Amino acid sequence: MNFINNWLREEILAIKAYEVPNSEGFIKLDAMENPYPIPTALLKQYQQYLAQKMTLNRYPDPQAIALKKALKKHIGVSSKFDILLGNGSDEIIQLLALACRPSDIVASPSPSFTMYDMVAKFTHLKHISLPLNERFELDIDTCLTLINKRKPKIIFLAYPNNPSGNLFNLQHIKTIIKASDALVVIDEAYDVYAGQSFIGELKNYPNLTIMRTLSKMGLAGLRLGFLLGAKPTISQLNKLRLPYNINTLSQLSAIFFLENFTLLNKQIARIKAARELLFQELSKIKLIQTYPSAANFILFRTKNAPHLFNYLIDNKILIKNLSAQRGLENCLRVSVGTTEENHLFLTTIQKFYEQY
Ligand SMILES: *Cc1c(COP(=O)(O)O)cnc(C)c1O
Repeated sequence: MNFINNWLREEILAIKAYEVPNSEGFIKLDAMENPYPIPTALLKQYQQYLAQKMTLNRYPDPQAIALKKALKKHIGVSSKFDILLGNGSDEIIQLLALACRPSDIVASPSPSFTMYDMVAKFTHLKHISLPLNERFELDIDTCLTLINKRKPKIIFLAYPNNPSGNLFNLQHIKTIIKASDALVVIDEAYDVYAGQSFIGELKNYPNLTIMRTLSKMGLAGLRLGFLLGAKPTISQLNKLRLPYNINTLSQLSAIFFLENFTLLNKQIARIKAARELLFQELSKIKLIQTYPSAANFILFRTKNAPHLFNYLIDNKILIKNLSAQRGLENCLRVSVGTTEENHLFLTTIQKFYEQY
């Protein structure tokens, strides 16, 4: 027995580390990134902006006042609501968990984003899964029974869901918000691709919050996520935030790109159009079952997913293999890439299935 095995909590020993494979030299379609870099013209402006404003000898603004103002303006948030900032929405998930009592319950659908479950384990909480049916819709009756019986403290609902890509039924979500005393977090990591949001519902439910991130729209490197909610809720949660969690570079960069959003909007529109094309072409392949997506990725099921995954790896294309997860047997998930990347991905898959 080595030192760390004796020393560490059993729950941590039991966790499988969140794996991020080395993607050097690969076409990277595994992490829902926007595949387009910033065009040169805007890059010059951005560099000038940073050169003027960066003060690295000083701590960042602990309240990130200018950034919050820019976000509120961009989203159009009423003055009744406020914003909690996180180093990615992952950190927001952790902050919310830290607000709970030990052994409190966190609920989220299964399959969904794995961080809800992992963070619950890190923070001495319990996690329960809300069941989905074979089309990845909430099995609402069972969900309500579970919620009434186990009384979760937090319910995370990704809208659209990752990895399935669908938007859960609106009425089902409202029923859950009403039926529970939990803090309900609608995780809108993909809102720019979905065009649908619960933001208009904030005023109707005191226990509702909306979580978003800049990651999937093209700024994953900045690590900026945020939670929108009623002012009293946010000001209490804000006590748990480490004072300088959003660094100066991220604060300034986010402000710059929110003020110059037209370009990102154009990229987002391109990705949405490419998603439709990719979906159509994938659906034409006989051995593949596709699931409709409101996000910038597509989940699909096939007869021999691990083989196909490895064949793509051999061809220097990296997607996400989910086939070992319960409810996702033989499932793979591909992020929407550039036109060229999507084309290469499709032709490689077609070549693979020519053997069958
Ligand atoms: C990617 C993803 C996140 C994480 O976003 P970050 O802001 O990069 O931490 C959160 N929720 C869902 C559903 C995601 O797919």
